[in-house]
Amino acid sequence: MPQETAMTKCVFCGKSATTKNSAGQPVCKKHKEDEPRDVACPECGMPMKIKEGRYGYFWGCEGYPQCQKTYQIDALVEDEEEE
Ligand SMILES: [Zn+2]
Ligand SMILES: [Zn+2]
Repeated sequence: MPQETAMTKCVFCGKSATTKNSAGQPVCKKHKEDEPRDVACPECGMPMKIKEGRYGYFWGCEGYPQCQKTYQIDALVEDEEEE
């Protein structure tokens, strides 16, 4: 059954995501027009991709199944407290 994804966070800032960008990454309004985010796996250097799981969105490593690293969205947000 379709279900609202609770507490999805913007991949850029970690605030509540209200929409998705062209790459299907959850984003807030402010970051909607930005280039999709590129994240390299801190473990193996492969690109990471947004995946949707039971408990919402998360970063999963493209090197799967060799590398099974996953990260919460807010673990990999950019630090942009200051405007
Ligand atoms: Zn944002
Ligand atoms: Zn990896």
